Amino acid sequence: MQKETLGRIHSIQSLGTVDGPGVRYVIFMQGCPLRCGCCHNPDTWDAAQGAECTAEDAVARALRYREYFGKQGGITLSGGEPLLQCGFAQMVFALCHEQGIHTCMDTSGCILNEDVEKVLAHTDRVLLDIKYVTDEKYRQYVGCSLEKPLTFLKKLEEMQIPTTLRQVIIPTLNDDAESVLALKTLADAHSCVDQVELLPFRKICQTKYDMMEIPFPFADLPEPGKETMEQLKALLGDYQK
Ligand code: SF4
Repeated sequence: MQKETLGRIHSIQSLGTVDGPGVRYVIFMQGCPLRCGCCHNPDTWDAAQGAECTAEDAVARALRYREYFGKQGGITLSGGEPLLQCGFAQMVFALCHEQGIHTCMDTSGCILNEDVEKVLAHTDRVLLDIKYVTDEKYRQYVGCSLEKPLTFLKKLEEMQIPTTLRQVIIPTLNDDAESVLALKTLADAHSCVDQVELLPFRKICQTKYDMMEIPFPFADLPEPGKETMEQLKALLGDYQK
């Protein structure tokens, strides 16, 4: 693996506070094999788009913000699906570890192979999206089986990588106690999971779909209310984030 390994990057958030612990330099990678109905980054889907950057350059740019990272913060690879570009991800995280920078991977967990395992070996925390708790909804609204992220979670358990399960709460699809309690049961069954994060479905991405001239599949669904979010979060007990 070379420092010159290229990655295709959609965008950067230099001082992010929602994608992993503390203050983070977030690199949104280009390309995603899934088509989630709730996706708010459809402009990351096409793997041929984005700007190329070497792993070495990406880390050098992140290091400019080092003083803001404090003890908890660091770098996060998000997307799109960052594990579509394993060579780049592995090199970025390896270089971060050389510098003592915390590494976090925000993934759908839909890809698992030897290359992914090499990236995970340099990953300090995983933010794993569990979009629904039924296989039927996964196939209908995500485009893969539920088994994929579950197998990924099994690997995280085996490697004992601290994990945050994340779920976007979408009215009528997963905004019920039964669904959230099933997510908690999944967390209970894996000792690597120490946080569960529920995020409200938002439709601000509608403009991106309009610009791309493609329909936003969940355009007609409402956003969840604050009260609903609080009630569902309360079901999570100690996992609550
Ligand atoms: S995995 Fe993420 S980037 Fe890919 S389609 Fe789903 S929400 Fe969008």
